[in-house]
Amino acid sequence: MSLPSATQVRQQFLDFFASKGHHIVPSAPIVVKDDPTLMFINSGMAPFKDYFLGNKPAPYKRIADTQKCLRVSGKHNDLEEVGYDTYHHTMFEMLGNWSFGDYFKTDAIAWAWELLTDVFKLPKDRLYVTYFEGDQADGTAADTETQQLWRQYTSDDRILPGNKKDNFWEMGDTGPCGPCTEIHVDLRSEEERAAKPGAELVNADHPQVVEIWNNVFMEFERRADKSLIKLPQQNVDTGMGFERLMMAVSGVKSNYDTDVFQPLIQFIAKEAGVEYHGTAPATVNTPPATENEKTDIAVRVIADHIRTIAFTIADGQLPSNVKAGYVIRRILRRAVRYAFSSLNQKQPFLYKIVPVLADHMKSIFPELKAQEKFVTRVIEEEEIAFLRTLENGLRRFDALEEGFRQHGGHVDGKSAFELSDTFGFPFDLTALLAREKGLTVSEEEFKKELEQQKARSRNASEQEQSDWTIVEPSQEQPRFVGYDATTAEARILRYRA
Ligand code: ATP
Ligand code: MG
Ligand code: MG
Ligand code: MG
Repeated sequence: MSLPSATQVRQQFLDFFASKGHHIVPSAPIVVKDDPTLMFINSGMAPFKDYFLGNKPAPYKRIADTQKCLRVSGKHNDLEEVGYDTYHHTMFEMLGNWSFGDYFKTDAIAWAWELLTDVFKLPKDRLYVTYFEGDQADGTAADTETQQLWRQYTSDDRILPGNKKDNFWEMGDTGPCGPCTEIHVDLRSEEERAAKPGAELVNADHPQVVEIWNNVFMEFERRADKSLIKLPQQNVDTGMGFERLMMAVSGVKSNYDTDVFQPLIQFIAKEAGVEYHGTAPATVNTPPATENEKTDIAVRVIADHIRTIAFTIADGQLPSNVKAGYVIRRILRRAVRYAFSSLNQKQPFLYKIVPVLADHMKSIFPELKAQEKFVTRVIEEEEIAFLRTLENGLRRFDALEEGFRQHGGHVDGKSAFELSDTFGFPFDLTALLAREKGLTVSEEEFKKELEQQKARSRNASEQEQSDWTIVEPSQEQPRFVGYDATTAEARILRYRA
């Protein structure tokens, strides 16, 4: 049986909301240049923040899109889950529909249900919905309106109360906020479903009972004194994980078994000469139990991370040693380590996947295809640079292991710092190695060492270091062809490792 195509399913979502009067807009770049509170777009609503805050009028009352999102830093960080579980990614697409002072709960709920059950034909008895149960501590009322609305579509045993963490959205300590309703899908086998009701597994980290869509109803403003006032204009903000939707419509048990990831996985497996079996550890904290699991985790991590790395570079953020650039370098090095240790790739490997990814995504995100050569080259150079020290670093870690075990199974801050400073191991790579070997490590200790080093080098030199070089283009050098006008600095033409 052939898998549903990612291009078609995405288009069905957009067409559906266009038919409900929504204006379809392209994804904003993933890299945020003008917001000190955010490095990368991490949800579909982030590019529309100003409309919700009332800083700017929304150009349309109804908008829908697919937004490239990254959850690798700050409030949302799913990095550790990736590869171990089968439904959290570093980069994913969030499908969304918005109402800016237009429709509210009644239509949002009706359309969400219609889309999932009529258009995508998901069985109604595999869907669960949640509503905000209220919070006694701060006096916020339960969202019984949403509960009532869902009763038109499904039975009470599928309409579940949820707490503030899952079912109440706030932008920050103050500002717009409101209850949300989430839709979860149960993709377990019939036998598993007969043995245990799905309602018990909602929001319980079960890999086949997963949240697919969140509908936020912004109806309040939180004041500094914590009180809530009703907003004059009410907004809807929804986000559906596209890769998870693909899993549901494909009737498979993992996001990686869908058309979104399969071309990448098949390419990686073939290129590395391994087989992908689709196994996963029981939980994200369980180390791989078999060689197959180890290989599968590596293949998933690489398929996931290459998307993040490639699209972030295409959107204008090069790997570097600071801030957003370092986030990307860290993710890249994490992927290189998996290729090296689990897939036996001792030469640059990741860069080869870029053309496959660019072709697969070009109909919706042409920016990668347009800069394919540039992005490929940047990644290859990064890989070459890191591979120079990776093997020695891994050997160093092994040599130190006995000592760690003698000290309570703890990787001390000095060693973590040495691995970073001498071998280019980002802290989270050291943490990952430690986790795989059942050792502990403290980021605080590491940071202390780092601070001391910084103080030392501040004294030693005032010279400024930069990761960027602006030069004139030449025939040989791949040109950076630029990105959407919404980001600046389209003048970086050459990358230096
Ligand atoms: P989860 O509880 O599964 O971590 P979430 O509650 O953090 O998800 P939301 O912030 O509500 O997610 O985002 C809206 C939707 O985006 C989710 O319902 C889910 O389908 C999708 N999503 C969230 N995080 C990820 C991720 N890391 N990878 C893929 N899809 C995601
Ligand atoms: Mg989450
Ligand atoms: Mg959730
Ligand atoms: Mg959610």
